[in-house]
Amino acid sequence: MILIDGKKAAAELRQELKEEVSELKKKYNQVPGLTVILIGDLTPSQIYVRNKEKSAIEVGLKSDVIRYPDSVEEKTVLGKIEELNKDNSVSGILVQLPLPKHIDKQKVIEAIDPAKDVDGFHPMNVGNLSSGYESSIPCTPLGCYLLIKKIEPNLNGKKAVVVGRSNLNGKPMTQLLLKENCTVTITHSKTKDLKAECLEGDIIVAAVGIPELVKGDWVKKDAIVIDVGINKTEKGIVGDVAFDEVSKVAKALTPVPGGVGPMTIACLLKNTIDCFKRSQKN
Ligand code: NAP
Repeated sequence: MILIDGKKAAAELRQELKEEVSELKKKYNQVPGLTVILIGDLTPSQIYVRNKEKSAIEVGLKSDVIRYPDSVEEKTVLGKIEELNKDNSVSGILVQLPLPKHIDKQKVIEAIDPAKDVDGFHPMNVGNLSSGYESSIPCTPLGCYLLIKKIEPNLNGKKAVVVGRSNLNGKPMTQLLLKENCTVTITHSKTKDLKAECLEGDIIVAAVGIPELVKGDWVKKDAIVIDVGINKTEKGIVGDVAFDEVSKVAKALTPVPGGVGPMTIACLLKNTIDCFKRSQKN
């Protein structure tokens, strides 16, 4: 069984991006810039943003974090986004989620210029991805996609099963696999026989949030299994896949932690650089 090493893949991607940033700097005399807006003091968000900032600096991006207290007014945030949309030194804007209740998440997402939407959440990017056009792609499914392609470069005609249909993970993952000519089944909480659906998959991507939901006898021999889940349990952090059981049947499997997680931030950096490159073309 191939243990898919997300830490190693992410380090390799960051190295490639670092070299690309250095080339872009020579060509345009400017480096791509990522600005993150962080509202409130939720610990996980603080940790994510610190890691994003650290990785952005490591590959040579210009990195800024704008911090607001929980009580910030929605109009202040929207005003800042408008300012960043117009700022040529900013290639990518990310508003760290979740937001305080009084701020309308969709309004905030839609305020970001789609050309600077490094999370790929703007409806224009969602539509472009599903139409097969160039777009920013949400970072976690993009990371999963890159890991799958490392194991199996030709996905033509493969059967893929995506467990979970969130806008963040399941839906964009489905679009990426469709684009690669997979036959994709997308499943969710109302799916009648999840085990039977999973057994059809040459590729399974689980993004649910239920510890060890996907069991060993749900997985076809030699399937590629990507575990997006991050679940805190008594025995520590586990994924949505029963790792010990599934590792006995799968051809390749991502561990949790150390699989998909590290790729997410690396893909954010990639999206920032891609936004910069598209802005230079236009
Ligand atoms: P989400 O928005 O809560 O969506 C969960 C999806 O799973 C929903 O579509 C839901 O179906 C489906 N589901 C729930 N119970 C199910 C069941 N019994 N059988 C089949 N499907 C079921 O979650 P998310 O934001 O996509 O996150 C999923 C997991 O990934 C979480 O553990 C999260 O922490 C993790 N995550 C990891 C990363 C990373 O970087 N590795 C990034 C983001 C998220 P319905 O639509 O019918 O409700």
